[in-house]
Amino acid sequence: MSRLLRIARRMVPRGTKFRPSRDHYDYIIVGAGSAGCVLANELSANKSCRVLLVEAGGWDWKPLIHIPAGVYSVFKDPSLNWNMESEPEADAAGRRIELPRGKVVGGSSAINACVYMRGHPRDYDMWAERYALPSWRFDNCLPYFKRCETFDGGGDDFRGDAGRLMVSHGNMLNPMFDALLEAGKQSGQGVSDDLNGYKPEGVARLDRTTSPDGGRCSAADAHLIPALERSNLELVTQANVQQVVIHGNRATGITLDDSTHIHAANEVILCAGAIKSPQLLMLSGIGPREQLSDYSIPCQQHLPGVGQNLMDHACINIAFHAAERTRRHSLAHLSNPLGKAKAGLQWLMNGNGPASSNIWEGGGLVYGQHGGFDPHADESIAAPNLQYHFCPVYASYSGRDIDLFPGFQMQIDQLRPHSRGQVQLRSSHSAVHPAVRFNYLSDAHDMAELVDGYKTALDLFAQPAFDAFRGTIALPSHRLRTDAEIEQFVRTTSGTDYHPCGTCRMGGNESDDKAVVDEELRVRGISGLRVVDASVMPSIVSGNLNAPTQMIAMKAADLILGRQPLASERPSFHFD
Ligand SMILES: Cc1cc2nc3c(=O)[nH]c(=O)nc-3n(C[C@H](O)[C@H](O)[C@H](O)COP(=O)(O)OP(=O)(O)OC[C@H]3O[C@@H](n4cnc5c(N)ncnc54)[C@H](O)[C@@H]3O)c2cc1C
Repeated sequence: MSRLLRIARRMVPRGTKFRPSRDHYDYIIVGAGSAGCVLANELSANKSCRVLLVEAGGWDWKPLIHIPAGVYSVFKDPSLNWNMESEPEADAAGRRIELPRGKVVGGSSAINACVYMRGHPRDYDMWAERYALPSWRFDNCLPYFKRCETFDGGGDDFRGDAGRLMVSHGNMLNPMFDALLEAGKQSGQGVSDDLNGYKPEGVARLDRTTSPDGGRCSAADAHLIPALERSNLELVTQANVQQVVIHGNRATGITLDDSTHIHAANEVILCAGAIKSPQLLMLSGIGPREQLSDYSIPCQQHLPGVGQNLMDHACINIAFHAAERTRRHSLAHLSNPLGKAKAGLQWLMNGNGPASSNIWEGGGLVYGQHGGFDPHADESIAAPNLQYHFCPVYASYSGRDIDLFPGFQMQIDQLRPHSRGQVQLRSSHSAVHPAVRFNYLSDAHDMAELVDGYKTALDLFAQPAFDAFRGTIALPSHRLRTDAEIEQFVRTTSGTDYHPCGTCRMGGNESDDKAVVDEELRVRGISGLRVVDASVMPSIVSGNLNAPTQMIAMKAADLILGRQPLASERPSFHFD
């Protein structure tokens, strides 16, 4: 019954206000998402710091977001989600691509799919080498990943066992997950039993950010809620920040959109995510001078990189209907009221069953049949170029509705896109969303990798391991024969894995004029202001972004408090 208690307790917001109780703090953190929750806990652990955490969204009381499988029916609820969308994407058939972002305590970690992935160690080594960021080599990040988590498989050289973020290895019993691993072996794509551990390549069962009680472990659950007991931490919800106040070249506080001013004695830390952090910088007069002048915003610091370098993982989905004799293994029953009620009751009573699963429990980091490493490309590293997410059901979205059919489905992400986009102002008011252009597929390389991804995933599903489960193809509606047909499928159906990042990127070189923050995440040319969230990633990592963002915030806490960084660690990885 611990789940019923958890949900009942959450119905009553604790330790949260709609207005700050004072007009000055030591640290003001903007945004209670993945990064903001980590920082709120770490900074307020120092009793002498008064910390204010300001969140535009509301308290995370809605029960379905705490049930891992329940979130899919509510994540588009406008009371939880900014529900933005891109400008028409010219190379994706002119479609506007959905851009969900959490607008609730916990931010996107409260509405995400709970997949826990760190990315490939070489991603971070590339940050260090290409962007002059030696302290962000993987050896320096690993101790912070470990400090964040408690892994249910136990701690070792790679995994943590004393952190606040609860991580569990996918354990739903379903023969389709077994088929996936077997097909990994048969196809030569490889198998790993811990992608976040010693073997970051191959087909695998994925890890999830779920607690031992079977509920979601958002950044708020992990870091913020326990810290709200402290008298030196204040959380304000439904408070939209309009701008950072800059005097001379120092950030001195923030203004809310009702004109309330709040002073920060030490620092303002933007944790508003990859779309809203660059928007807030520009509204504060920090960004490309010409763009600011279009909106009559006085330029405090010309930083041409603000809002540039936008990246995301574009993805496609393929699905098969289940063969008649194996339909019973699929999770399609979860779409009917009886199936939902049974799963909900099982979750409430025991904390297990399908409702405790994030459903996408299978996946992998794999090399496409034709590639991966391109020694001539700037962003290329010797690491898998595709990510799989696999579930034992065929899920079809139309708007906010989701239909489930007996079958299985693979989402295939392109991990290192060459296309880059921008976030640009559309108004001088923070409540008006900025214009977001990803330029998905604008680089031919990205299209080629997704075409290759389609073929690589089909090759996996063609293995004998899937013979018992494979019916006819469901998505696309028929087998595509030529590259031109596959390209058309990619152009007209590709979507996003919801990983925008890079819009306030780090750079360690003084001469790097597109860097927005330095190696310690300080905004260039302005003191007392940092950005700490997914927007600082110089290049996108090979996996989902919640864990890397929390790692960044955990490392940032040491930088902000002037603590000695954790000692680097480099255990030996196993690569096939
Ligand atoms: C639908 C979905 C599914 C995803 N699935 C996964 C997954 O399975 N695994 C994974 O690792 N990642 C996943 N992600 C991505 C991951 O959750 C995000 O990359 C990560 O949470 C980003 O963290 P952040 O701290 O940068 O921003 P966020 O967590 O988005 O936090 C930003 C916060 O700032 C607040 N804010 C913004 N503007 C203002 C303002 N002006 N004033 C006050 N507050 C403001 C927002 O409301 C929000 O709470 C998913 C994301 C989405 C949306």
